[in-house]
Amino acid sequence: MPVRPAHATDPASARALIAAHGGRVTRTRIAVIEALQASAHPLSHDEIGAALATADIPHDRVTLYRALDWLVEQGIARRIAGGERAWRFEIQRGGEHRHAHFHCDRCGQILCLEDVPAEANPPLPAGFEFDRAELVLHGACADCGRHGRKVAAQ
Ligand SMILES: [Zn+2]
Ligand SMILES: [Zn+2]
Repeated sequence: MPVRPAHATDPASARALIAAHGGRVTRTRIAVIEALQASAHPLSHDEIGAALATADIPHDRVTLYRALDWLVEQGIARRIAGGERAWRFEIQRGGEHRHAHFHCDRCGQILCLEDVPAEANPPLPAGFEFDRAELVLHGACADCGRHGRKVAAQ
């Protein structure tokens, strides 16, 4: 076994998670799970790609997209619609708990609002079946709002 770099967080649990879902354990899938587990907020494709590059995991965009698609299909990760057409991903923690997200329109960051439930039970037309709702609030995060900074590249 090669010695793992110190920043690799708990590789056993990422492996176990993939194996438990009957998937092939690949370096990319492990690295993506670890990047998501290590982050306090949902990550974009680019941020996950940067984390993989930092960890010296060779990958290309297609491999990364496929790994993320699989993790979302399996319910290991969750996809959140961000602003400017970009998806963000977060690890699914603690069973069915879903929370709302906050998109900072100034810095472009998506933050978890752990105490705000994402789902309502809206009155729907006859025959409609409710699956899930995603709630994304928009505004300025604490950093951007307080200092009035404008960091956004867009
Ligand atoms: Zn912000
Ligand atoms: Zn979240």
